[in-house]
Amino acid sequence: MTTPHGTSDDKPDMPDTTLSFDSSPTREPGGEQYDDAAGYYVDGEPLADIKAPGGPLEERWGTRKFEARIANPANRRRLSIIVVGTGLAGASAAATLGEAGYVVKSFCYQDSPRRAHSIAAQGGINAAKNYKGDGDSVHRLFYDTIKGGDYRSRESNVYRLAEVSVNIIDQCVAQGVPFAREYGGLLDNRSFGGVQVSRTFYARGQTGQQLLIGAYQALERQVAAGTVRCYTRHEMLELIVVDGRARGIIVRDLVTGEIETYFADVVVLASGGYGNVFFLSTNAMGCNVTASWRAHRKGAYMANPCYTQIHPTCIPVTGHHQSKLTLMSESLRNDGRIWVPKKKADCTKDPREIPEEDRDYYLERIYPAFGNLVPRDIASRQAKNMCDEGRGVGPEVEGVRRGVYLDFAEAIERLGRESIEAKYGNLFDMYARITGEDPYEVPMRIYPAVHYVMGGLWVDYDLQSTIPGLFVTGEANFSDHGANRLGASALMQGLADGYFVLPNTIRDYLADGPFDRVPEDHPAVVEAQQSVKDRIEAFLTTNGTRSVDSYHRELGNIMWEYCGMERTEDGLRKAIDLIRSLRDDFKRNVRVLGSAESLNQSLEKAGRVADFFELGELMCIDALNRRESCGGHFRAESQTEDGEALRHDDQYAYVAAWEWPGDPGSPEMGTPVLHKEHLTYDFVEMKQRSYK
Ligand SMILES: Cc1cc2nc3c(=O)[nH]c(=O)nc-3n(C[C@H](O)[C@H](O)[C@H](O)COP(=O)(O)OP(=O)(O)OC[C@H]3O[C@@H](n4cnc5c(N)ncnc54)[C@H](O)[C@@H]3O)c2cc1C
Repeated sequence: MTTPHGTSDDKPDMPDTTLSFDSSPTREPGGEQYDDAAGYYVDGEPLADIKAPGGPLEERWGTRKFEARIANPANRRRLSIIVVGTGLAGASAAATLGEAGYVVKSFCYQDSPRRAHSIAAQGGINAAKNYKGDGDSVHRLFYDTIKGGDYRSRESNVYRLAEVSVNIIDQCVAQGVPFAREYGGLLDNRSFGGVQVSRTFYARGQTGQQLLIGAYQALERQVAAGTVRCYTRHEMLELIVVDGRARGIIVRDLVTGEIETYFADVVVLASGGYGNVFFLSTNAMGCNVTASWRAHRKGAYMANPCYTQIHPTCIPVTGHHQSKLTLMSESLRNDGRIWVPKKKADCTKDPREIPEEDRDYYLERIYPAFGNLVPRDIASRQAKNMCDEGRGVGPEVEGVRRGVYLDFAEAIERLGRESIEAKYGNLFDMYARITGEDPYEVPMRIYPAVHYVMGGLWVDYDLQSTIPGLFVTGEANFSDHGANRLGASALMQGLADGYFVLPNTIRDYLADGPFDRVPEDHPAVVEAQQSVKDRIEAFLTTNGTRSVDSYHRELGNIMWEYCGMERTEDGLRKAIDLIRSLRDDFKRNVRVLGSAESLNQSLEKAGRVADFFELGELMCIDALNRRESCGGHFRAESQTEDGEALRHDDQYAYVAAWEWPGDPGSPEMGTPVLHKEHLTYDFVEMKQRSYK
């Protein structure tokens, strides 16, 4: 296998931590071979990221930027780019590419680019500015992110992310993003989980919104300049691949129902994450996998699909009536203390009446070094453990109290109510509106919920997928977070990709353009158009009895139960069977009312849920294959004596990149093909993570 990260000659004076890697099926300690996922997949050729230059880590991005070819300004006016998505990753990319002079078409399914899900981000964005002088640096951000991701991300990518982080803040400040400031006028920042420095820049609890307004304004500037054209309420339903290159997309105008075809020299997907496969999540209701999944079916590999982030601080589920969960930002863990009663008998008491000595501040107890600021995967798992022990609080749902306290009483006493209000006021208001309880008076109740996906389309260092000419940015790609994303680093990655990385790498590909015009009657185009029409027709003519939502909810329950916070071999096998039979039922019995020629949200959802079924199955197969625990992927069979995640670097230090098998036009899901990209660590020592 090719090593992606240069040769040993390139290494600075660092320990040699390269591990011997056995890509054959898992071995029992006794030596016998077995593979949990045998029969569910076939082995493919190993994969390597050959775009990352070798050499010292801190020089790699500079080298790549210099080596990537440039299309001259006159040629750029003849080069066209489609960008699907207007969240932070897509809007920043479209604006920057427009500014560079390319002809950009930008698509989103909302009525305005500004409504992309990025607007929901609350807590903040990381950058290694070291404004607090507390020991931060590019190298520390790089190290924290590699460790936080449980040694399942690429060193080159993560270092670049840390390096570029400092530019993002400057760019956003120049755009007028109103970051919080200290009394003296300097930008303020706070801490997030998994780190011991303060590097998270924020705009109260509305960081995503403010950053998106900045990116949107940059985008609108290009719209006015004529370099970008926006297509709102247009949903991409198919990718056009001609002679092996991505050359366009098929979209449905969600208002008129018209099926339209758009061509370009290159296509960028910035279509966000797929956490809604779990039905209940903190994601916006519209978030889906369709753009990525359609590309996957056309040859783009899907990487580490099972890596899901379960966020520890969400408002608990209260019953079956919900279709959405609400995040309480991780920033609250800066000042809030998490606890449960020591005694089960106290779980129904008013928390204010439980004396200090009867409270278990379990994160502070188990992880004294990081306390309430342990990473999300660890905080989530411990909350589940407390509730499984019977020490959860709040109403019972299906016989278990699924909640822990997040308590600000001490912080209010120490800092004063005004100070807490200034930092978190809008989050406290939101909590009060949803629960009817006043968090200034009574501790909040929180519980983990699905929040983010680290998995996504496989991309190389240039952010190019396995389909030439198809680039993927933001949450839609798998690139930088390994098996667990640290808080405040999704916004950092989305904006790094869009403002700084993609514009520098895509030009190397475009230097060979413009490519031959694709005629509308090209067989690949006709096939793509027809497959979209056939799918729509099939949904509308099934005439079954069950709503799309009811299938989605049931699929989500299966995913949460068996592919959620804890996964087991038996559970995952069961989930695959359940998903397959539910998908068959969906095909025969779904009821989609209305017509294709008008606004039809039930039809939109049907397409998204159909893709979630296939994705859900692949997630379970991926989770079954990985018989180790790492980050957000916790396999019950692989844990330390004290219940922490136990990795097996000798067998699983790889990115699992899945190929859609066989005929891309096939309506059926075949047996996926697994390509392994071996991860090597030349600059960081792979260790069992410890936050104690
Ligand atoms: C409640 C919440 C709070 C968060 N807070 C933080 C935080 O404080 N800090 C942090 O770093 N991260 C945070 N995150 C994570 C972060 O917000 C997201 O990972 C990030 O915003 C994703 O950005 P994106 O541009 O990749 O995708 P999105 O913002 O999801 O945008 C996706 C875009 O793609 C478009 N699209 C999708 N599919 C199609 C299609 N088929 N056709 C056409 N258009 C399509 C959509 O219309 C949209 O414009 C939070 C997440 C949640 C859920």
